Amino acid sequence: MWAELLPMGRSSASGGYRRFAWTGVDLECRAWFKAQAEARGLAYEVDRNGNQWAWLGDPAAGDAVVTGSHLDSVPDGGAFDGPLGVVSSFAALDELRARRVAFTKPLAVVNFGDEEGARFGLACVGSRLTAGRLSVEDAHKLTDGDGTSLPRAMETAGYDPDAIGADPERLSRIGAFVELHVEQGRALDLSGDRVGIASAIWPHGRWRFDFRGEANHAGTTRLVDRRDPMLSYAETVLAARREAELAGAVATFGKIAVEPNGVNAIPSLVRGWLDSRAEDQDSLDRVVDGIERAAREYAAAHGIDLDVVRESFTPVVEFDHALRDELARILGKQTDITVPVLGTGAGHDAGILSGSIPTAMLFVRNPTGVSHSPAEFATEDDCVAGVIALADVLEGLACS
Ligand SMILES: [Zn+2]
Repeated sequence: MWAELLPMGRSSASGGYRRFAWTGVDLECRAWFKAQAEARGLAYEVDRNGNQWAWLGDPAAGDAVVTGSHLDSVPDGGAFDGPLGVVSSFAALDELRARRVAFTKPLAVVNFGDEEGARFGLACVGSRLTAGRLSVEDAHKLTDGDGTSLPRAMETAGYDPDAIGADPERLSRIGAFVELHVEQGRALDLSGDRVGIASAIWPHGRWRFDFRGEANHAGTTRLVDRRDPMLSYAETVLAARREAELAGAVATFGKIAVEPNGVNAIPSLVRGWLDSRAEDQDSLDRVVDGIERAAREYAAAHGIDLDVVRESFTPVVEFDHALRDELARILGKQTDITVPVLGTGAGHDAGILSGSIPTAMLFVRNPTGVSHSPAEFATEDDCVAGVIALADVLEGLACS
């Protein structure tokens, strides 16, 4: 499976993957999923939002156990984020068949569409639509960098954009969703474990900081006469690092826009975007409040006007405690060791669905912690350990 997926959408220049929703490469990945389903004699279907499903047993029976992830990528993404979950799902099913287990519940493998949001700017579109967390109206407004709308892109790819919308009936037939994912951090590497269980997805948000000063000549304006917003911005970047370190959180200014953006002009405006995430809401509030307070002090000292706008926010996602404990019990019984339970700063389809159905996640060790990059990696042994852990979990959930 891995060998078939590896060449799809790989850039020869960067070595990274460009598997964007509803493009030709996405359709190649989707054809691969369908072929995997059919090769195993699973019932293949596409839901109204373009998510792909492969069923063992009758979905209408209810209380289904579902596993899977996504096949799309960020620009120049790695090979593991998404595909590892889908490949492991099919491999875990093969493992269960080899064990000759008797399924008492329907089981499905799913590929959620457009998880990364690389093309239309919104993550988890497939699962958001299904869970009713994205309205049809808002979905229709999504456009890519070339001005192609989401409905147009779906139509071009041979899918029906008029069908999209919430799918509570489908979700009501699912008893548990388990997503296996490569870890996007180094917690497992540091603890020396191959596999971990997710506790929660950290709350996170994006804030826009507008520092306004006065444009002037870079050669003739005396330093003391300047109102240079770049200085306040630079000090704020350092404050973000300091506040995040104090709270054990993360804070990043990763995007900046400067006006007039001339090499020989003092800027009139520096607009910086802050992304911050923390283990809990209190820590996140403390970090962002601290950064904003520092920014206001620096701005006042330099005669700079400052506006801070929160552009997006996602509260903490606690995975279902009963399901999480069940996973820990199943894996603990098999391995005789305690499987670590860890939080994550990254969003996932499992996080979106957790508002509607019991969801859980398994993480597979990533030795460098790097993800969303061609350097993203997991060893073959760890991937196999992930498959076995997933098979154990599915057996525990769907065969008892
Ligand atoms: Zn992912």
